[in-house]
Amino acid sequence: MTRARGGLRAETIAITSGREPPLPDGPLNVPLVLASSFHAGGSTPYAREGNPTWTAFEQAVGALEGGDAVSFSSGMGAIAAILEDVPLGGRVVLPTVAYMEVRSLLRQRADADRLEAVQVDITDTEVALHACEGAALLWIESPTNPLLGVADMAALCQGARRLGALAVVDSTLATPILQRPLTAGADVVLHSATKFIGGHSDLLLGVAITSDERRAARLRQVREMTGGTPGSLEAWLALRGIRTLPLRIAQAQTTAQVLAERLSAHPAVVSVRYPGLSTDPGHQRAARDMDGFGAMLAFEVSGGAPRADAVCASVRVLTHATSLGGVETLIERRARWPAEAGISPSLLRVSVGCEHVEDLWTDLERALATPP
Ligand SMILES: *Cc1c(COP(=O)(O)O)cnc(C)c1O
Repeated sequence: MTRARGGLRAETIAITSGREPPLPDGPLNVPLVLASSFHAGGSTPYAREGNPTWTAFEQAVGALEGGDAVSFSSGMGAIAAILEDVPLGGRVVLPTVAYMEVRSLLRQRADADRLEAVQVDITDTEVALHACEGAALLWIESPTNPLLGVADMAALCQGARRLGALAVVDSTLATPILQRPLTAGADVVLHSATKFIGGHSDLLLGVAITSDERRAARLRQVREMTGGTPGSLEAWLALRGIRTLPLRIAQAQTTAQVLAERLSAHPAVVSVRYPGLSTDPGHQRAARDMDGFGAMLAFEVSGGAPRADAVCASVRVLTHATSLGGVETLIERRARWPAEAGISPSLLRVSVGCEHVEDLWTDLERALATPP
């Protein structure tokens, strides 16, 4: 059960928000508006400035997060817009373990002398805040991708603010259902809506949310000037995804807990990372700060990369593919990506979907028994 937000719970907001007021014969669902231009005389003359289908999606995400939401063409589009105002030479503190493309983007900008990028263990609050002295921005990802580390969100956000650094939280893995970083003191929250929010592996979309009106206006301006605008079909599909987001998360995280426990007891498994395990380093923080432990887990197998590759090659109910957050359970060996060089070669990341837990377990057990 999620905590109430302004009277209603997330399960209800996901279904009631982003709709037009009821009118006789008016559609229940927001129409998919396909238009690049609008009749003159209003506030949105051209579609790079806005679209009623995005607005509905943004209302729903904003209601769930408790802020003003601005949608983008992808998660990276939202990230690029947020980073737009880092001053030349400004310091950005980011996690050592975080989504690989955001790390690559910041490294490229640092290599080009546009900013200074300092990597820290984001689960170590003291170290992270020490690096924030004089910094322009603290980039928080929690839980982290792919190791599922859990940061002390409130301590980091409030500490960063005190030091004059902008606190930005990539909350993609937690979704607006399991944590609300704005309440913990974040300046900006972002999601790759490609993942759990969309939920069906059929679109790319990003969204940034802030409770600061001027910051939201600036994000809209950057979107308009740099063209990181979402497609209206994507926004429509993602809004449809939001309607079932709480249900999908509830189902998937219940399954993730069972799989994590069974994997922990499996002889071919060396270690499991899942915040729902009482032995996990992130367990206590997640239990205190989150409304659930999420649908992502990671585990290392004995036998190194060959064994891990054999598992990926032999699954039949799970799907061997990258990405996460869809109704289908995905598995991949994360270190196959050059940008994940620091990750153990035998680490498998699983995005748990909504299939039956016993079918997933039977498939995983069989795959783990397949010789490399
Ligand atoms: C996928 C992802 C992104 C990037 O989002 P896109 O929609 O692929 O551009 C950012 N952060 C995290 C944690 C992600 O998983």
